[in-house]
Amino acid sequence: MTESEIAYAWWCVQNNPHRFYQWSKWLSKRAEVLALDRYECQRCREVYHRYRKADTVHHVNHLKDRPDLALEIWYKDPVTHTKRRNLVSLCSSCHDEEHPEKLRRKISEPITEERWD
Ligand SMILES: [Zn+2]
Ligand SMILES: [Zn+2]
Repeated sequence: MTESEIAYAWWCVQNNPHRFYQWSKWLSKRAEVLALDRYECQRCREVYHRYRKADTVHHVNHLKDRPDLALEIWYKDPVTHTKRRNLVSLCSSCHDEEHPEKLRRKISEPITEERWD
């Protein structure tokens, strides 16, 4: 990512996360990841060996923790130094399981808090 892209992602995280998900650079990156995964949920494929259509692109390093990776499909694992996926296509039920904090929030907080991918 460029300096200005990282600065914009940081701004979104701190001020208005929705703006990130409306950002044209995110929308095109998201489309790129879905195409790369052939619209298949990668967690269903790897964990359950079953096919499910993906409808979400998840940040393995959560956006709010690592805005500097927000548009990176790959990242280097700091421990093993291997190249790993940072953006991954998931179905909605796998995505919920990757975000247990969201399920808890659903009960008490408004829907506007839901859109962290
Ligand atoms: Zn899945
Ligand atoms: Zn996610």
